[in-house]
Amino acid sequence: MENVLSVSLGEIVLKGLNRKYFEDKLVKQMRRAISDIGFKRIYKEQGKIYIEAGVEDFPQMINRLRKVFGLVYISPCIRTEKDMDRIGEAGVKLIDSKLKSGDYSTFKVEANRADKKFEIKSPEICKEIGGVILRNFESLKVDVHKPEIQLYVDIKECAYIYIDKIKGYGGLPLGTNGKGLLLLSGGIDSPVAGFMMAKRGVELSAVHFHSYPFTSERAEEKVKDLARILSRYVGKIKIFSVNLLPIQKEINMKCPEDEMTIISRRFMMRIGEKIANFHDFNCLITGENLGQVASQTIYGLTVTNSSVNIPVFRPLIGFDKVDIVEIAKDIETFETSIQPFEDCCTVFLPKHPVTRPKVEDIENSEEALDVDELIENAIKNMKVYTIE
Ligand code: ATP
Ligand code: MG
Repeated sequence: MENVLSVSLGEIVLKGLNRKYFEDKLVKQMRRAISDIGFKRIYKEQGKIYIEAGVEDFPQMINRLRKVFGLVYISPCIRTEKDMDRIGEAGVKLIDSKLKSGDYSTFKVEANRADKKFEIKSPEICKEIGGVILRNFESLKVDVHKPEIQLYVDIKECAYIYIDKIKGYGGLPLGTNGKGLLLLSGGIDSPVAGFMMAKRGVELSAVHFHSYPFTSERAEEKVKDLARILSRYVGKIKIFSVNLLPIQKEINMKCPEDEMTIISRRFMMRIGEKIANFHDFNCLITGENLGQVASQTIYGLTVTNSSVNIPVFRPLIGFDKVDIVEIAKDIETFETSIQPFEDCCTVFLPKHPVTRPKVEDIENSEEALDVDELIENAIKNMKVYTIE
């Protein structure tokens, strides 16, 4: 009898001929997530991935693995040979420790016989192991409809017995859907937007715009903190840190006051596009959300969007703020996001920003600026950090 962790795959099982590619990517990410904890072996067996490791490391390992995209459940299992006595013993052991963790009075055994050569069929496995449990625990009764404890028995090359199924985030393994450059502010939305895209397999890098010395160094630290939290899900993140102040000053001097935000936004996008093209990233990602603020009306988004050719993904576009906040809390970026440090956009905030800007008008206003040179200088002075 050995303790192993099992990992159930989500959508990957639908990938047909590409399944191996997705599985290999997932295993790679799993290895990354637990490499410093140490494990004996990772192997695949009939639709699941198993990890052999010290049982004392399981809680920490589960906590890490939960954040690896592409897996839906993690279960601490007992692995035995395919022998009904051994399976029964494992069941008793698991139920025993489950009963120590809470009050339970009903259970059910659920068997899955992937190895059809195993001579005992699933209903008989359930019956026999159920009998063993009943004999060992007088307080327990069988409830096939709503059991408080489900004891699973998977018959494969070995038998795997488990109770708990700890939920992962699902999604697709990181690196199966290209690379994206996340426009990461210090707010609530952009880290969530990055998370959502990463969950669909997009590798992340980030660009942050600050207005130092108008914004503090602490504000930049906050962005690094956010990237550090995101890196729990995606591993290393590169942050390109760009000082937008010289550009903001130019806009402030030469363009209409109410267009300040929207024109700055267009510069952020253009700079993002430049960085993305240089590094072969496939898209930009923003936390924009329809109607949340003046610059994010459908007109505002149209004008922002028209400054670049690269695809821009806005995974939060149709979310309500409360739903975004809920995800931010769940992924643990919320507490950091609400720390009060000024954002570069607040530095020159117009009193009445345009809510219905037109592309032609904005392009007209930008005639007063040397757009290319401003962008070039901003990129020349950019700093790059790697967060792990
Ligand atoms: P967030 O909570 O992500 O800051 P927000 O609701 O405050 O979003 P805006 O400030 O209007 O919205 O920004 C919209 C999007 O533009 C952000 O989600 C982010 O992707 C990008 N963005 C805004 N400011 C910055 C910045 N200083 N650096 C990088 N990206 C930014
Ligand atoms: Mg913001």
